[in-house]
Amino acid sequence: MIILLKKNATQEQIDQVTEWISSAGFKPHLSQGVERTLIGAIGDDRGKIHLKSAAFLPGVETVIPILKPYKLASREFREDDTVVRVGDVRIGGGEFIVMAGPCSVESDEQMMECGYVVKKAGARILRGGAYKPRTSPYSFQGMEEEGLKLLKRVGEKMGMPVVTEVMNTTDVDLVETYSDILQIGTRNMQNFALLKKVGRSRRPVLLKRGMMTTIEELLMSAEYILSEGNEQIILCERGIRTFETATRNTLDISAVPVLKELTHLPVIIDPSHASGHARYVIPLTRAAVAVGADGVIVEVHPEPEKALSDGPQSLRPEQFYRLMDEVNLLADVMRRGIGGLP
Ligand code: PEP
Ligand code: MN
Repeated sequence: MIILLKKNATQEQIDQVTEWISSAGFKPHLSQGVERTLIGAIGDDRGKIHLKSAAFLPGVETVIPILKPYKLASREFREDDTVVRVGDVRIGGGEFIVMAGPCSVESDEQMMECGYVVKKAGARILRGGAYKPRTSPYSFQGMEEEGLKLLKRVGEKMGMPVVTEVMNTTDVDLVETYSDILQIGTRNMQNFALLKKVGRSRRPVLLKRGMMTTIEELLMSAEYILSEGNEQIILCERGIRTFETATRNTLDISAVPVLKELTHLPVIIDPSHASGHARYVIPLTRAAVAVGADGVIVEVHPEPEKALSDGPQSLRPEQFYRLMDEVNLLADVMRRGIGGLP
C-alpha cells in the first residue's frame, strides 16, 4: 500500500503515520518527492485491509494499493527515475555510462593494461571478476581476494570506481571492502539469501537478469534488495536462453523499454554475455544507446586469445576505442534528436 500525504503535511504528521505503519506490523518506506511525500507500507498482504484505515490519520490524503507484486521497485511507488551514485558517476541520470574491463582479473599487467585502455577510451567504471561462476569446476575460478586487491588498486590508479561479482553470502563483507558496486550474476539472481545480504550493504548493487527468468522475476529479486533497505540498484539485461544457438544468449532488447515503464531503477545492457561473440558487441551497444538504456557493461581484454575466461566475447583495445567513438556519436544524436536520453 502507498500512503499519500497531503501537500501541507507536517513532519509530526509524517512521523505519526510512519509509527502507525510500524505498529501495524509493516515496514514503512519513506519517499520524499519534490511535491509530495509518500510512505510505502510493506509487509504481509494479508494485513492490508487494516492498512486502509490509515486514510483517517491526520495529514493523509489517500491510501492506494500497489497492484504489482513488486512494490518498492514499481513506478507506482516512485515516479521519478532512481539515480545510482558511485563516486562522481551517476547511473540513471540521463548520461550513457560505459562499464568495461576483463571478464576475470588475471594479473597485475593484464589489469593495468585493461584499466589504462578503458579509462583512456572514456569508460567510467572498471569491471573485473575475482570470483567466477564457471560451468566447469575445472575452469579458472578467479583470483579471489588477490583479484579484489588488484582490481581496487588499478581502479584507484585510474580514478575509476570498480564493479565485481559476489557469489556467496559469506563473501559479501570482504567484497564490499574492495568494490564500489556489488554484482549479482545471472546464476544468482534468485539466490534469496544473497539478495537479502546485499540488501543490507551500503554498496550499490548491479543485479543481472537470470538467464531463464522473466522481467517480473527480475523485479521481484530487486524487491528483495530494496526491502532490506538498499535502494541503489542497477538492473542489467544480459541475454536470456532461447532456442537460438547463433549467439550465446538472446539479448532481450525489449526488456529495456518494458523495465523503464515498470520500474524507476536504472537499466543497463551487457552485450558481451548476451552475444558471446566480440563481433556483435558494437552493434548491440548501438542498440543499447538507441533503446534508452542507461549504459552497458562490456568485456575488454588486451589479448583475448589468452584470456582465462570469455576470450571470444572480449573486445581488443582498438575495438573498444571504436565502440566508445560510436557511443559518443549516437548519444549525441539521441540528445539532439529527442532532447536528452530517456
Ligand atoms: C560476468 O559478468 O562476469 C558474468 C559472469 O556475467 P553473467 O552473470 O551475466 O553470466
Ligand atoms: Mn564473462
